[in-house]
Amino acid sequence: MNRLAATAPEAGQDYLLDAEARAFRHEVRAAMARELAPLAEAIENDNDWEAVKTGIAALGRAGYLRPMFPDHYSGPLSAPGLVHQTIVSEEAAAVNYAFETTIGSALSCAYPLAHHAAPAVRDARLAGILDGTEIGAICVTEPNVGSDSAGMETRIRFDETAREWVIDGFKRYISNASVADTYIVYGITDDTVPAQKGMTALVVPAGTSGMTFPRTYTFMGRRGCIVGEVAFENCRVPEDHLLGKENGGFRIMLEMFNFERIILAGAALGVARTAFSIATQHAQTRDSFGQKLGCKQLIWDMVAEMSWRIDSAELLTYRAAQMYDRGVSGKELMKPAAMAKLVATEIACFCADRTVQILGGDGITKEYGRAEQLFRDTRAMPIVAGTTEMAKYLIASRDLPNIKPNL
Ligand SMILES: Cc1cc2nc3c(=O)[nH]c(=O)nc-3n(C[C@H](O)[C@H](O)[C@H](O)COP(=O)(O)OP(=O)(O)OC[C@H]3O[C@@H](n4cnc5c(N)ncnc54)[C@H](O)[C@@H]3O)c2cc1C
Repeated sequence: MNRLAATAPEAGQDYLLDAEARAFRHEVRAAMARELAPLAEAIENDNDWEAVKTGIAALGRAGYLRPMFPDHYSGPLSAPGLVHQTIVSEEAAAVNYAFETTIGSALSCAYPLAHHAAPAVRDARLAGILDGTEIGAICVTEPNVGSDSAGMETRIRFDETAREWVIDGFKRYISNASVADTYIVYGITDDTVPAQKGMTALVVPAGTSGMTFPRTYTFMGRRGCIVGEVAFENCRVPEDHLLGKENGGFRIMLEMFNFERIILAGAALGVARTAFSIATQHAQTRDSFGQKLGCKQLIWDMVAEMSWRIDSAELLTYRAAQMYDRGVSGKELMKPAAMAKLVATEIACFCADRTVQILGGDGITKEYGRAEQLFRDTRAMPIVAGTTEMAKYLIASRDLPNIKPNL
């Protein structure tokens, strides 16, 4: 069969995508069903990190961690980019959100390695991440600093004698803490200027002396994901482990957040779609008051409210991804990326909540499917990668260019 003719847009889905991207989605969806779906139960029921790793390795083998790195991509796509990466994120999260969070960390780690690392460091650390055989982690958040990442307290200094960077600080809520092979660590190198001009990013390989993992957290959802603390005490890496330039870390972080938010929006869309499909199936099969549940207008209302929200999330998400692929970056991409992330993640929560409601008792027990899992998993989405409130500040700051937002 003609590869590009394989898929027509379903009920308006993929309206913004070209034929090649639609065909790519079709292939990715089949691969996720084959490779990831059989692992999902062990992840949810047994918190099975090895199953997550197996899934990521399968995605790596298929080349699905490479579309947003065209220089490292050799698959069939004629113009690989963030649109295709977002499709991967969406389809992975539709199967299980744990896969997407590990993909998101991998890509956020791979991005600065691909674009800002010294060639020797890039060559040593990037291939494994893109192959899915190694794991990445990003260290921004700290106990006293979450949304206000510019206020971070971790300090980085350069030891002229040893020709090494030295990190002292404490990070928390770090995805893949203790299981990652490569850590991208942000810290302040010059505290006499605003963080935008005094922040530096480094590459820290696993096993580096002075990096420890005091604690792993337990969350209400996202089972299978490992998130914990990372402590740095006189932690030293060689001179060439600098990313970009000294004091140039804030710009790298901004670039990372832009695409990370778009990828996360794709994941939220994937989870919202899974919830929607559970809800609509239930509404059409469950009998109530002598009719199918879906005959009731109050149920129609919930279905319609989910349906238009999902389409809105899709349009904003793929608009932002297309802008990225057309070269929009930095502050110009900040608003569309924040909008996509805000809308898609809030919609994922809405859809998970409405799905539980439509399922009634079946929605809040583990005995009758995944609705309760989706409800727990989605709650993290409006918090990670910049909260909904921070996304609103980013949006309004572009709309009110003459006013400094009062954070
Ligand atoms: C599961 C999970 C995985 C994560 N993974 C990573 C990771 O890999 N790497 C990493 O660096 N971080 C990670 N994080 C951290 C995440 O990015 C932060 O949790 C997030 O940025 C919010 O920071 P905070 O939790 O400290 O909340 P706070 O910043 O303390 O905010 C608390 C609440 O106050 C609101 N708020 C804060 N300031 C304002 C203001 N000025 N005006 C209005 N409202 C405000 C926030 O929106 C939020 O609702 C992860 C978090 C979780 C939960």
